Amino acid sequence: MRKLIIAGNWKMNAGAASEATGLAKGVLAKYGQSDAVDIVFCPPFTALREVSAVIQGSKIALGGQNMYPKAGGAFTGEISPLFLKDCGCAYVILGHSERRTYFKESNEFINEKVKFAFENGLIPILCIGETEQEREAGKTEAVVEDHLRGGLAGLTPEQVKSMIIAYEPVWAIGTGKTATPEDAQSVHAFARGLIAKLYDDSVARTVRIQYGGSVKADNAKELLGQPDIDGALVGGAALKADSFNGIIDNSGAV
Ligand code: PEP
Repeated sequence: MRKLIIAGNWKMNAGAASEATGLAKGVLAKYGQSDAVDIVFCPPFTALREVSAVIQGSKIALGGQNMYPKAGGAFTGEISPLFLKDCGCAYVILGHSERRTYFKESNEFINEKVKFAFENGLIPILCIGETEQEREAGKTEAVVEDHLRGGLAGLTPEQVKSMIIAYEPVWAIGTGKTATPEDAQSVHAFARGLIAKLYDDSVARTVRIQYGGSVKADNAKELLGQPDIDGALVGGAALKADSFNGIIDNSGAV
């Protein structure tokens, strides 16, 4: 039985220390000691230390929203996985569609980051998913396959078992449009089937695949109730403690 993992991707929001700690405290008060689901906050880099101090001693984990695949050096504006670790991160989001789109990140570059995250003790949350145009052209599975083959290249079965994959149809991110639970389930089942082919059944049965794209309290139950959906990567609804808590309330696990 895979444990649900619900992660909040705060994106470039709630970066002010008071806002970030207020948000973290609002979730902590309700779910800070819950073992029922894994909870992860991914605040902006500038708020990582403050949020880390708030969640210290709780069951909530911290994640970065991105990283550069080098330990350090002359890479102005970038962030090393070592720094994320030092701030208390256990996870790092990689290959988010906003990074693929606005920063032209390729599968190869994302794969380099995934491997380097593992080398430095961070658990990657690898984002995959098709655009609206790709869906309309019937290419959803081809895109998911391309992102998965590219992102997972060279990883060991144990690494894949321990990581998180987030299926996020790009057309559903921040738009209020959500894949139907059936459509999302079908892509998750496809992704899991592909992982079984690339690795084996035990890897496919173990790896957790989150859904992301306008997840809210009122659609969480149906989405997270699907057999191959193992949690959510949440953007907009992660920015208020009540709405994030509402997703956990309706996850079916608490
Ligand atoms: C995301 O950015 O990963 C995301 C899923 O955003 P939203 O929940 O706002 O669609």
